[in-house]
Amino acid sequence: MKRSLLALLLAVQLAVFTGCGAAGQSGPKSGLSAEGGGVLGEEADADGLRYQDDYYEFINKDLLEQIELSASDAHWDWFGELDIAAGNEMDDIIRGLSRDRTAFETGSSEQKIRDLYACVSDTENRNETGLGPLKPHLDRIRNAQSIAEYVDALVSLSGEYGFSSIIGGYSIMQDKADSDQYAVYMLYADTLIGREYIEGESTQSYVALYQDYIKNMFLEFGLGEGEAQSSADSVMRLLRDICASTLTIEQSYDPSLTYNVYTAGELQELYTNVDVDNMLKGLRIDGQDKYIVIDVEQAKTVNSLLTEENLEALKAYSTFVLLNDAAEYGSTAMARLYKGMENALYGITQEWDDEVIWLRLTQELLPWDFGMIYVEEHFSQKDKENVEEIIALILDEYESIIMKQDWMSEATKQKAVRKLETMNVKIGYPDEWPEEKDMMQVTPVSEGGSLMSNFMRSMNVGVEHGLRLLGGRADKTKWDIPPQTVNALYDPLNNEIIFPAAILQAPFYDRENSRGANMGGIGFVIAHEVTHAFDSSGSLYDEYGNYSNWWTDEEREEYQRLSQSIIDYYHQYEMMGVHVNGELTLAENIADLGAAACIASILDGDREALDDAFSQMAYNWAAEDTADFMLYLLSTDTHAPNKIRVNAVLSSCDAFYETYEIEETDGMYTAPEKRVGIWR
Ligand SMILES: [Zn+2]
Repeated sequence: MKRSLLALLLAVQLAVFTGCGAAGQSGPKSGLSAEGGGVLGEEADADGLRYQDDYYEFINKDLLEQIELSASDAHWDWFGELDIAAGNEMDDIIRGLSRDRTAFETGSSEQKIRDLYACVSDTENRNETGLGPLKPHLDRIRNAQSIAEYVDALVSLSGEYGFSSIIGGYSIMQDKADSDQYAVYMLYADTLIGREYIEGESTQSYVALYQDYIKNMFLEFGLGEGEAQSSADSVMRLLRDICASTLTIEQSYDPSLTYNVYTAGELQELYTNVDVDNMLKGLRIDGQDKYIVIDVEQAKTVNSLLTEENLEALKAYSTFVLLNDAAEYGSTAMARLYKGMENALYGITQEWDDEVIWLRLTQELLPWDFGMIYVEEHFSQKDKENVEEIIALILDEYESIIMKQDWMSEATKQKAVRKLETMNVKIGYPDEWPEEKDMMQVTPVSEGGSLMSNFMRSMNVGVEHGLRLLGGRADKTKWDIPPQTVNALYDPLNNEIIFPAAILQAPFYDRENSRGANMGGIGFVIAHEVTHAFDSSGSLYDEYGNYSNWWTDEEREEYQRLSQSIIDYYHQYEMMGVHVNGELTLAENIADLGAAACIASILDGDREALDDAFSQMAYNWAAEDTADFMLYLLSTDTHAPNKIRVNAVLSSCDAFYETYEIEETDGMYTAPEKRVGIWR
């Protein structure tokens, strides 16, 4: 597991995030209008389609007719569209610097970008250096003669570069129970294609492809045919065992399951087959009062697998995880295998151009250098002030929504209001760039650098930065997400909402838009993030960002009853014959339902403004997917598919009925007693 993704996985994202920029979207669609526009009073179209029957389809049919996924795309939406547009501008900067002969100062963004791109695109160098500094670590794992030697080898690699495969992975993050402090989280084993695919009924063909991929990676690594096959079989055997006791994605959002405090001594009792003292020393994290085990049941399984008879299988497992983690940065053959598997998973039938991949990799490894360049061009103080006004309106409205909940006691309401009042807001970009920006340096090919060595450097920066934090007070002004990210977040540990610069643009926000359109655009996004503070997971944290129960038992019971009705409601919706997983998408659905109710309440019966807001919201969620990618989303994404996000939410929103005079015979109609939501 690549360390940089972990923090993002733990925060709550607005849109699908696969960790590879826009999910399989290779180029922008030119000439698309970023404007929605109301539909009130419009008649059925030539095909008889009415907004009263399928609002999403009616709003987006013209737009989606213009979207044709190319063979190298898996998905289209506005998030990806804006991401690609930002990426293309950065591409021009990379190309410009590559042609520039200026001797840039070592450590400057210009030097780092130019030299890194030279490493990425130097395929001869990549093929020569191969696994570079990772190789001796892999050799040590493969030469281990005992479980003790195997664990030592993993610890040495994790301690220096933060790679984790089965055991020895850790991450330093804010302590959930005391968010002013940092704590050590013991990571779970990497489950590769994931439990959802391994155990899913409709996903077994992908699992078979994955097994071939494992074998091919071993062949590329240099194993003979027989050994590659048997190693791949061993990896699959362990993978199934590990997945069987791994938390599901929805469980991983539940701190009552993931926040398990252990002392070093108790950790030794959990990992009876490992010398825990030795491991903690090797990782430079010994002497802590507590260690948080994220997935206890999985840890027990891992411990039971750490036996001498499994040694060869364990070595194969770790080898493959590391090859998979590093493949994109290795030889061209390994990178192609990696991308090929991703393409198969997402339904992409045509490979991306090499140059597209190289430019994206360069940007991903230097997020803060590109972030600094991005905000120089793309951030307006005026827009920030306008958005701050909308945020203030929404927080105010939310207070009224909290106050009218008759199932909450006065004391609990006051705590909820305090959580709103103390909610921290981050907009645009950080006042101070994170220290990782300067810690990340790039060594050019001429000085012995390679893509792999620079990637390893970025991993090492993550480790060293984490260790510097440990023991100090948490810096809540710090940003974990760069400003060019087209997304928004709620972070429960800081009780904060974050809107990077890149989300403050059309179609989400435009200062020329009507009030209603901006309310359905950025307003919906803001209200969605605010609701996350009170969703099934966010509600378990108090106003200080600490995991603590501030509800009475009766309130918690009522909350669960309301949640169950939301789970059942979404389960009725289907995509490609698959029911939406109401449990997996619960927190996001609570956020969407709360957001729609909040903005509708602000617009207070103004039908024209509500029409603009609903149609803009539906427009912003337009999407097109390959069948494979949709299946991937249905199995793993904590958000419902976009079409359902729009139609299910509006069908439960009373103001939608009043705005459009929806009747019982209309497709969008849901009886009042069957409409769901918590914060409304
Ligand atoms: Zn969300």
